Amino acid sequence: MNCPLETRENAQLLLDYSTHKLEPESVAALERHIAICGACREFARGQRAVWQALDAWEAAPVSADFDSRLYRRIETEVSWWDLLLRPFRPVTLRRSLPATAMACLLVMAGVILERPTVSPAPPPADLTQVDSVQPEQVEHALDAMEILNEFSQRVRTDTPHSKL
Ligand SMILES: [Zn+2]
Repeated sequence: MNCPLETRENAQLLLDYSTHKLEPESVAALERHIAICGACREFARGQRAVWQALDAWEAAPVSADFDSRLYRRIETEVSWWDLLLRPFRPVTLRRSLPATAMACLLVMAGVILERPTVSPAPPPADLTQVDSVQPEQVEHALDAMEILNEFSQRVRTDTPHSKL
């Protein structure tokens, strides 16, 4: 016989073979082919493994009060105010997103602000040290202050309820 894997309709033959749906003469012919065809042998073995796994699988038994417990849980978790507030939820989410983004920037600003203290400075602390501050350090600090400023402005405009 020709290799069943080469045509789509004959591949069904292999599937039927795996599920024991084939006539005995077809099984004999297919097994003769499988004996000489590595691809079909692999396919049949894979199918058998899947079916064995499915046979071995057992769903966990459902307890007697499963339904009542499920409905109780649905009732408590989806309360009336949850349903009432649902249409407004995307708005509150959208509002909180910039705040989250700004919080990330704030952390970054903190890292930038901290960096100049990390850089090695000469030990004697006299007035000449003021001149040794690098221009990019000042720039970083100014950037960070700008970000902080923008952040506090956004927080003020985004959350009018927080002003109590
Ligand atoms: Zn084959």
